[in-house]
Amino acid sequence: THAMKLKPVTSKKQIRLDDRDARVHGNTREGDELEQASQKEVERISELQRVFYADARFAMLIVLQGRDASGKDGTIRKVFGAVNPQGCTVSSFKVPTELERHHDFLWRVHQQIPPRGMIGIFNRSHYEDILVPRVHKLVPKKIWNARYEQINDFERMLSANGVVILKFLLHISRDEQKRRLEDRLTDKQKNWKFRVGDLDDRRQWNDFTKAYRGILENTSTKWAPWYVVPADDKHVRDWLVARTIADCMEGLGLAYPKPDPTVAGIEIE
Ligand code: ATP
Repeated sequence: THAMKLKPVTSKKQIRLDDRDARVHGNTREGDELEQASQKEVERISELQRVFYADARFAMLIVLQGRDASGKDGTIRKVFGAVNPQGCTVSSFKVPTELERHHDFLWRVHQQIPPRGMIGIFNRSHYEDILVPRVHKLVPKKIWNARYEQINDFERMLSANGVVILKFLLHISRDEQKRRLEDRLTDKQKNWKFRVGDLDDRRQWNDFTKAYRGILENTSTKWAPWYVVPADDKHVRDWLVARTIADCMEGLGLAYPKPDPTVAGIEIE
């Protein structure tokens, strides 16, 4: 089914970010079937990661953005659940520390860019440096607006240096966020995740939508495309993200390095 493959953001329609865009319409697959399909993609990633590491020509950067409870943690757990832990790093970007605030906004980000052979996963990212200041009106427009170009330049430089970049916006509807936040309030295992501040962000739903639209409009590039993931259904989400990553890795033409010629014919006693 054609609608079940993510396409990089290039058109206005993908930038809409309405509630209806949080679901795949006409999806007839059942949860079980999706979970199996997802598992297949997850195993593909795991296999591809072995040759990705050995090949060592590329690094891979996966950026995950999304509102509170959009499933960033769950996506990481599922999609990278089968990958060799030695082959990937996860970086979570929190409110900048005192030290970080005294540097340019990409300083802390650049340090977390994976080296060749590695997959780096960003749980939030440099895009917070547009979102938060814009929505919370922390700096003048001139400052956050200039960051689109700064980020595009930064990502272009990374890409030219072997970093393959994929950016995913996990898009949930307002109702689904409500359900998930309520869950956090009532479920003892999720309670610790509840932050009162999340409710403030929820009240500014439309401001965040606008800010995300700005990001999609200005920073989905050939070298670092954005994908909007319909994320109300977790199985659909995992499947779509995993598949996009696996397809991208497969397209790189990865190969194991040729053995050292002196190795040929060695006999081990
Ligand atoms: P998540 O919701 O991603 O699971 P969390 O709620 O467990 O994360 P927090 O300790 O709340 O993690 O840190 C995330 C918070 O840090 C978010 O509110 C995010 O907007 C904020 N943040 C991240 N980067 C920046 C930034 N560059 N500028 C301002 N705020 C930022």
